[in-house]
Amino acid sequence: MIRRFIDKVFRRKAKSGPRILTREQHGIPRDRIHPCALKTTRALRQAGYSAFVVGGAVRDLLLGRVPKDFDVATDATPEQVRAVFRRARLIGRRFQIVHVYCGADVIEVTTFRAATPDADEGEEDSRVTADDGLLLRDNVFGTQQEDAARRDFTVNALYYDPDKEEIWEWHGGVEDARARVIRIIGDPTQRFREDPVRMLRAARFAAKLDFRIDPATRAPIAELAPMLARIPMARLFDEMMKLLLSGHAERGVHQLRAEGLHRGILPMLDAILDDPARQPFLHAALHDTDERVRQGHSASPAFMLACLLWFDMNEAWRANQQDDGMSAQAALHEAMDRVLERQRDALAFPRRFDGTIKEIWALQARFEQRSGARPYRLLMHPRFRAGYDFLLIRARGGDAPQELADWWTRFTQADEGERAAMIAQFGPGDAKRKPRRRRRRTPAATSEAGVA
Ligand code: ATP
Ligand code: MG
Repeated sequence: MIRRFIDKVFRRKAKSGPRILTREQHGIPRDRIHPCALKTTRALRQAGYSAFVVGGAVRDLLLGRVPKDFDVATDATPEQVRAVFRRARLIGRRFQIVHVYCGADVIEVTTFRAATPDADEGEEDSRVTADDGLLLRDNVFGTQQEDAARRDFTVNALYYDPDKEEIWEWHGGVEDARARVIRIIGDPTQRFREDPVRMLRAARFAAKLDFRIDPATRAPIAELAPMLARIPMARLFDEMMKLLLSGHAERGVHQLRAEGLHRGILPMLDAILDDPARQPFLHAALHDTDERVRQGHSASPAFMLACLLWFDMNEAWRANQQDDGMSAQAALHEAMDRVLERQRDALAFPRRFDGTIKEIWALQARFEQRSGARPYRLLMHPRFRAGYDFLLIRARGGDAPQELADWWTRFTQADEGERAAMIAQFGPGDAKRKPRRRRRRTPAATSEAGVA
């Protein structure tokens, strides 16, 4: 109560209030708002609080896109929010938020926050990693105006009131969305210094939305880019994965290079970008992932990691065989483990991806074995599809024979008779039943497809 009174006084003191756009002015049909978000804002309002849909969802709706998720911002404290809903959970310690559940859906509800100079570095990620000792100090609630000022870009600082069907904006985000501009709120240098990850976010949003970065926002980036070295790898990794799996990865990586931001973020990406021989593979991988996302399929972090680390793994595999005389299988497994361990130390990505990554890699050599029953067995492998997609990318990137990829494409589509004929040309294979011999094949047989 007291705080809301203070808010009112504060607002009256503010030089100018928000610009409020009506339904006619912003054009967002209410039925585009997720029912769960509508329910959440309505319940909060009925309890006497203000509640708005915020952030990416409003921006995406304004652009006629389908939002990924709906966030709600309110002047109710997390405890007050929880008291309003039957199914709600408090999350986080430093910046508490509330998850409100409707069926299987979750709406994230945040209390308006005031910007504290050294506390405002992103959302969830930093909460875990930075200043763990300062639990309550940073949980500073604020007015909507303050909340808007601590957000990163004007197009991300829009507040939509579904009841009145109004957009409230404090920083010209609607106009910027229409002009397709990414513009940071406040002084660019200061805001990027506060949180260098915002530079990556600028590039990510520009790529995702096909916006340009406003010249004043862009100007300090080249100089400040090295500040990213101070950000914990785990946070950079998360932000990069968002970019790489956004459906606009090709443009995103291009944008990073254009801004001079591609160095030192993901060491393995650096390595690929520095080696002209590896670039076609990277582009094939990004292109393929973008296509998949745009067709509504999910893109998996494991598949992306398998792509980014493929060359490192391959090199280690080859070295194990050539220098240390290991068998192909032993060399493969040692190389996979070592490359993943090394990256995990640097990037802190979860162990649960390992299984899939290793399977995708290990399947690659099996695609070369086209005789006997092996192709049928491979077809039945639970990761066949991922392995096959990976093979296609390798072929397009010049890392595997196109003929091999085409053969597998035909094989998956062929009927029984055709399949038998396709296999016959590679000899009897398993019919002779000498699996041991075949397993001891020479490395030369593998290098045919550039695997070894
Ligand atoms: P996406 O559709 O990619 O999720 P988004 O705008 O929802 O885009 P999020 O990373 O989910 O982006 O963040 C939600 C909101 O939180 C943003 O719209 C922005 O207002 C605010 N925000 C996130 N990260 C930062 C940051 N580093 N600095 C300031 N504000 C941020
Ligand atoms: Mg979001």
